[in-house]
Amino acid sequence: MSTVELHLLRVGACRHLECMAARGGRWSAVEFPALCGLIRHPKRGWLLYDTGYAGHFFTATDTWPERLYRAALPVELPEAEVLRTQLVGFGLTPADIGTVIVSHYHGDHIAGLRDFPNARFIALQADTNRFAALAGKRWRATLGGHLPDLLPNDYFHRVVAADRAPKRNLPGWLHPFETGHDLFGDGSLIGVPLPGHSHGQLGLFVPDAAGRPVFLVADACWSLPALRDARPPAFPALLVNAERRRYLDTFRGLTSIARRETAVAVLPSHCRIAWREFTHGA
Ligand SMILES: [Zn+2]
Repeated sequence: MSTVELHLLRVGACRHLECMAARGGRWSAVEFPALCGLIRHPKRGWLLYDTGYAGHFFTATDTWPERLYRAALPVELPEAEVLRTQLVGFGLTPADIGTVIVSHYHGDHIAGLRDFPNARFIALQADTNRFAALAGKRWRATLGGHLPDLLPNDYFHRVVAADRAPKRNLPGWLHPFETGHDLFGDGSLIGVPLPGHSHGQLGLFVPDAAGRPVFLVADACWSLPALRDARPPAFPALLVNAERRRYLDTFRGLTSIARRETAVAVLPSHCRIAWREFTHGA
């Protein structure tokens, strides 16, 4: 199994009610960062898990009905957090990114896809099919948090289904998650379906991120403290999930891992605390 290097980058943020992340949260707006994983694989080079926000998000939400998305979730993207700017700090340009793993197709995860001309994309087939079916259905897409204009024009020629990668058993301590897809065939990056939030949300289990196991769980939960406390989102927030019952099953499974396996870094896409703990160790 290969060791990979993983950096968790903050690429913009939106503001939303705290109680949307967890029952018992305040009814006041807090910041939800959009995080993405920058990963260096010893043979495949640099890749990303999601992209966070990008300038394309603002272009795609300039018109109605897409503008509703921006009105509901106001986004801030300071220049220093733009992904392209942050890549410079690693000596990289967007052309150096060979793969982008797409957790799911909500705008805050795919806004930067157009910026990576040499990337192939990996996503679960069910999610890709659902997204493709939204073409031309602007209201339906917008109300579901989807902005089809964010995809590169040749996206469907460049995307490969994670489901086609060999299936692997996960270590027993990741119970109740039992199998995943070995994305590069070397055990270094295992795509794990995390059903509920979207029709095919893809988590990423990294057995050895420079000596530490990491589980990137996208929007399967929004707050690490709430996950540890077994406090799922408040009812209105559950409505944004494609399949509520499956979302809650996934959430409970992750709660048991977060409580039991404290050596694993469980990293949701929008949790400030998880980001701080992982990047600054506090
Ligand atoms: Zn999200």
